Amino acid sequence: MGFDTLLLDIEGTVCPISFVKDVLFPHFAAEVPAIVQSTDATIVEILSNFQINDPVKLQQHILDLVARDVKDATLKQLQGHVWATGYQSGQIKAPVYKDAIDLIKRKSKIFIYSSGSVKAQKLLFEFVADPSDYTKSIDLRPFIHGYFDINTSGKKIEEQSYKNILESIEMTQNPEQVLFLSDNPLELDAAKKAGLTVGLAIREGNAIVDNKSDYENYLDFSQL
Ligand SMILES: [Mg+2]
Repeated sequence: MGFDTLLLDIEGTVCPISFVKDVLFPHFAAEVPAIVQSTDATIVEILSNFQINDPVKLQQHILDLVARDVKDATLKQLQGHVWATGYQSGQIKAPVYKDAIDLIKRKSKIFIYSSGSVKAQKLLFEFVADPSDYTKSIDLRPFIHGYFDINTSGKKIEEQSYKNILESIEMTQNPEQVLFLSDNPLELDAAKKAGLTVGLAIREGNAIVDNKSDYENYLDFSQL
């Protein structure tokens, strides 16, 4: 109770952990056959980095990188472009939980920390499915004060990353007044070491946490 400054994880905390696996990745895979035939200037330019001219081989190569989960810069760029187009066309909407939407709107200082890029985070919060009408989307960006990712702040299971964030949000003097919510105990432990107050998000589909009694548990955020 009484926290105005919150740092929020995304997957497993404000939206289902399955969103990336069940929505974003299948959307990209379904688009690949069209992508390799595309004449769109941005796509053509990104694809030229693969240096494969045959569309069939190009398609195989892209799907192979995805299947093997290769951290390839061109693949990431391509996925980012395809997802941005998907959000903008209304094909993709982020299923942020209603209680999380309400929390983000209600609290004065909301910050996001996710391993997904800041660019991807902003897209997600720009196109949030409206819980009262799924054909519509809500733009939550006006309610969010800052975004952090691995590039801006470091890995999510390292204490130093949270110290970096405290510095960015000017809370180094009173870290305990920042509440960090996540589904991952390793992230909570790192944040706790840096002095933040932490809470474990318990959501459907999340991995079972054996030592969940070590943390304050939140089945939803309506009481915060
Ligand atoms: Mg998470």
